Amino acid sequence: MSDCIFCKIVRGEIPAKVVYEGERVLAFDDVHPQAPVHTLVIPKEHFTNLQDDVPPELLGELFTSVREVARIKGVAETGYRVIVNNGPDANQTVPHLHIHILGGHHMTHGMVNLGPGQ
Ligand code: AMP
Ligand code: ZN
Repeated sequence: MSDCIFCKIVRGEIPAKVVYEGERVLAFDDVHPQAPVHTLVIPKEHFTNLQDDVPPELLGELFTSVREVARIKGVAETGYRVIVNNGPDANQTVPHLHIHILGGHHMTHGMVNLGPGQ
């Protein structure tokens, strides 16, 4: 995907603060952090989101990488939240599968605001 921003990060065409790199996975800090720790884990190969026939072994590597990123960022013990915005109703803005890892402070109880929005 030539015009996908996350594919461009994978190809080194736009800069990112890389936190972790695996064979098929890249993790980098979110450019607009919503918490003291806010890192994204993506597959290097382009998949739009979870509906896009992501191979099970790649899903495994993505989630193993989440654990590794949590260690690197120092939130493995304190805890962190994992979010995947998947498709329009979830307000997925970048159409390349990515897992948000949020942590570094105590978050509000519950998940996120799941009510209807604009
Ligand atoms: P989502 O709304 O789940 O699609 O999240 C997309 C995320 O990508 C947002 O949190 C953005 O801040 C983040 N983002 C967009 N462009 C970049 C970039 N060039 N480098 C790092 N994060 C980015
Ligand atoms: Zn892409």
